Amino acid sequence: MTTRVMKFGGTSVGSLERIRSSAAIIAAECARGDSVAVVVSAMAGETDRLLSLAGSLGFGLGDEETDVVLSAGEQISAALMAMALREHGLTSRSFMGWQARIRTDGPPGAARISGLDASPIRTALGEGCIPVMAGFQGASVNERLRTLGRGGTDLSAVALAAALSAHCDIYTDVDGVFTTDPRIEPKARRIGKISYDEMLELAAQGAKVLQTRSAEFAKARSVPLRVLSSFAEPGQSEGTMIMQAEDIAERRIVSGIAYARDQARIALRGISADSAALAAVFGGLAEADIGVDMIVQSPASETDRANLEFTIDRRDLDRALVCIGESDARDVLSETGLAKVSVVGLGLNRRADVARILYGALGKQKIAIRTVATSEIKISALIENDGVEHAVRALHAAYGLDGADG
Ligand code: ASP
Ligand code: MG
Repeated sequence: MTTRVMKFGGTSVGSLERIRSSAAIIAAECARGDSVAVVVSAMAGETDRLLSLAGSLGFGLGDEETDVVLSAGEQISAALMAMALREHGLTSRSFMGWQARIRTDGPPGAARISGLDASPIRTALGEGCIPVMAGFQGASVNERLRTLGRGGTDLSAVALAAALSAHCDIYTDVDGVFTTDPRIEPKARRIGKISYDEMLELAAQGAKVLQTRSAEFAKARSVPLRVLSSFAEPGQSEGTMIMQAEDIAERRIVSGIAYARDQARIALRGISADSAALAAVFGGLAEADIGVDMIVQSPASETDRANLEFTIDRRDLDRALVCIGESDARDVLSETGLAKVSVVGLGLNRRADVARILYGALGKQKIAIRTVATSEIKISALIENDGVEHAVRALHAAYGLDGADG
């Protein structure tokens, strides 16, 4: 018998009506004979509402009490889902993260799962009960509630699936992973199968369908993963399967175009060029959990000095500037209003013309490129926020995705 972890995101539990239709999908899966555990997000908009309540009292993400407020969102939807499943004559009960024995370390608001003893969930499954676990939460070693970072219910689901050696189905409001955001490019197509590496890169570069850390976890533990729509009739969503690259027969050069708005660029002019000083800059940022991308280093006019540039998320800018305050740079400049558009595909490293296509397509649209960064399976350009939609459409066409099959 296959064990399946079915995760339902905020819009899939956004109202009682949505909870009922998601419950019908779960009931249909149970009727096929699979053993099913469910993981839910808070109802759509709820986490933001709770966050602003805490914010009104001066508490933000990163505070322990904020985590207690936030985890209430998933508590409510888990219990409502268990009730909706009982309407189908099924046996079901809710589990908070701590009751499922999810252990975390790391700071409040961005905790990591350090251990998951799935035995209470396994016991429930053995008794023919459908456990509904509240996502996005666990407990620290000193028994405090912790949340796992925005979008963290994906991680809860993948981690539970790994612990149960189960398949993990992520139900959302779109029918899988698309070649790009269909709201920007209506020609975007659903991707039938995609590798863990590409999914991870798309998520990291801004695609919102799956939380980046959950994609990382799924890859590390080879959890069979699917992204499906809860808005289709039971069994009707084809979705996207995420798997090892070797298992995908048909390899595309490019799989998708991702974008992330609201990036910031920091330039450190005339910083000591020795590696220790440069490492200290990035060490400070890493300690503050600030993700750094598109690093460019070049020699400064002064001997033994360098110019260093990199991008971060706009939201992290103030904190980053505080970290950097301690460097010996002659000058620190920052700029906002930027965006990153990225082309992701396993075949990119086999093509010599990848950069030419990027410069050609964006040049034709008169979109200025500030910086380009490449990896084995990705090429990203830093542009201005205003150019995002044009850039996404231009790249979707230029890399041959407009007519691609899924
Ligand atoms: N409710 C949390 C959030 O909005 C976690 C999740 O939905 O995955 O970020
Ligand atoms: Mg999500």
